Amino acid sequence: MRTRDPAIFGEQILKGEEYIVAIDGPAGAGKGTVAKYLATYYRLKHLDTGLLYRLLGYKANEKNVPFDNLQALMHVAATLDFNDLQDPRLRDESVGNLASQISVFPEIRQFLTSMMRRFCQDIAPPYQGAVLDGRDIGTVVCPDAHLKLFVTADPKVRAQRRNHEMVAKGSAFEEQDSLSKINERDQRDQNRAAAPLVMAGDAHLIDTTNLSIEQACEQAGSLLEQVLPF
Ligand code: C5P
Repeated sequence: MRTRDPAIFGEQILKGEEYIVAIDGPAGAGKGTVAKYLATYYRLKHLDTGLLYRLLGYKANEKNVPFDNLQALMHVAATLDFNDLQDPRLRDESVGNLASQISVFPEIRQFLTSMMRRFCQDIAPPYQGAVLDGRDIGTVVCPDAHLKLFVTADPKVRAQRRNHEMVAKGSAFEEQDSLSKINERDQRDQNRAAAPLVMAGDAHLIDTTNLSIEQACEQAGSLLEQVLPF
């Protein structure tokens, strides 16, 4: 793992413009881990954009809002607060599924996209920029990002990783069940009409199937250093 002092590294880019890194990819590929690494080592604000979709799905479900009632969903969306994104309940796979169901509505996507762009506009020292991870960051939310990464992995490996996370939290699915849940979510995310999960033409592919966390983060760090101004 990189040993460079992030504080020193940060000062070098402080003079320049703010750096935006867009990371997209399917569930369980490791994009969140890579995003957190870049955020720490390159002093970037981090937004896991899936959490906004999850928070909306969670709140709508809590209020018994039917998932086909767009107007009611938009009312809930208007109440979302970045401070609520830390709630650990949002990480449950069941909430990921709710998120994926509401994410098909273009109006909801537009609303959450403007929240994400506001996050990018609100960068102040000590941050040098922002890293956002999600499904449509490089294609829709930040099409002018300085660096775009598409992080993916074999679905079986992604399902195994999800299961290890669940075991660590004290619950686990049958492996086949995890795989079918991942496949179901991939299908919905890749095939929806509004901002489907696709790799941006100018994104760099990182396939983490056979990579350790360290190797994936190293690759992402090297790519970021190539676009930094020194
Ligand atoms: O990344 P995560 O698994 O938390 O995302 C949950 C769901 O939110 C995804 O399956 C996807 O449907 C939706 N999402 C999206 N666009 C994003 C981030 C997440 O459609 N930028």
